[in-house]
Amino acid sequence: MKFETKVVHTGDRRRVPQLAVPSTTPIYLSSTYFYDSAETLDRIFGHEEEGPSYSRYSNPTNDALEELTTALEGGFGSLATSSGMTGLQLAFQAGLLDRAPKILSASAIYGATVKMFDHIFAPFNVETSYVDICDLDAVKAAIEKEKPGCVFMETMSNPTLRVGDIEEIAKLTRAAGACLIVDSTFSTPMLVRPLDLGANIVVHSATKYFAGHGDVLGGLVISDQQHHETVRMLSRIAGGTLGPFESYLTMRGIKTLALRFERQCQNAQKLAEWLCGHPCVAKVNYCGDPNHPDAAVIKKSFAPGLFGAILSFEIKGADKASVMQFMNRLKLVVPGTSLGDVHSLLLYPVIASHRDIAPKMRERLGIKDNLVRVAAGIEAVEDIMADLDAALRPL
Ligand SMILES: *Cc1c(COP(=O)(O)O)cnc(C)c1O
Repeated sequence: MKFETKVVHTGDRRRVPQLAVPSTTPIYLSSTYFYDSAETLDRIFGHEEEGPSYSRYSNPTNDALEELTTALEGGFGSLATSSGMTGLQLAFQAGLLDRAPKILSASAIYGATVKMFDHIFAPFNVETSYVDICDLDAVKAAIEKEKPGCVFMETMSNPTLRVGDIEEIAKLTRAAGACLIVDSTFSTPMLVRPLDLGANIVVHSATKYFAGHGDVLGGLVISDQQHHETVRMLSRIAGGTLGPFESYLTMRGIKTLALRFERQCQNAQKLAEWLCGHPCVAKVNYCGDPNHPDAAVIKKSFAPGLFGAILSFEIKGADKASVMQFMNRLKLVVPGTSLGDVHSLLLYPVIASHRDIAPKMRERLGIKDNLVRVAAGIEAVEDIMADLDAALRPL
């Protein structure tokens, strides 16, 4: 063999002895797979036999992650996607297939999802209307009036943390022949399992709690049997799948999800209680608040004793300039746009997630100029408190 040939072929395509099982899933970067015979490959291409052939169709590292998330959410199958938004796009395409091109959405949702409705779906004649998802009568009336193909909600609204009744909304959606898609990024399957409550498709931004360390952009779509096949069919054609390295990092992240999320929820609870008594704080939004407007729904749908790790609070008398000064004074809490990381994060909706929403609309959604959102990390809660306190005090 000549040098030019050796550099390409030598050492590659080694087989692991049949009985050796790696104790954690390796990162399979290979884009293509072949078999002992062309006949086997033919059966795999023809779906008569299971196995990887090309990474857009399936990849062994992604398969492992997908098996894990399917089990965690109690779904029929999962697809790991290159971002949470790609996951949402595929979920809506699958949900709208053979249904009316109409989406009925909760009004307080992630900003990019609103943009997706406006710029990706609206140009193809998919109409979106919005409803207060915590008002069941309004949801019922809107489903009857709009006859949507898909109903969409988040498990906790952002950033005011209102909680809709997935179980009741799933009944209404099912009766109307529509598909219920739930973005469960804020809650994780430790807190809520939307498929158990009757949803058809659950989407996660794996960027957040699943990967958990601020080093992955990814998504997961976990579906019932009816929709999983369609989601996979769409991604076999269009891609949008997660890279194997990110799949590996996400699976590694999920191994500590139970430990991380429990601590994050405990820290959020302590922060919420402490902030309620803080002289610079006017109001705290937190799912564990006994006076929460959706306390009854939270009690019946969330795992006992866990209320999520996100809270938001209004800083007394603060305007935009003083909120920004407060952010500049933070030394430990990261003033970054995300959540679910091991480190605590603080987001100012007015300049970030809700920047493009008209001030009047923001006001209606309860997002005032003095509202900030905290995603509790796993640090010692005293250190998070000390940092927030030092930044709040001069106000
Ligand atoms: C971050 C986020 C998304 C988008 O996920 P990406 O991974 O950034 O594409 C969607 N929904 C919610 C609730 C999010 O927090």
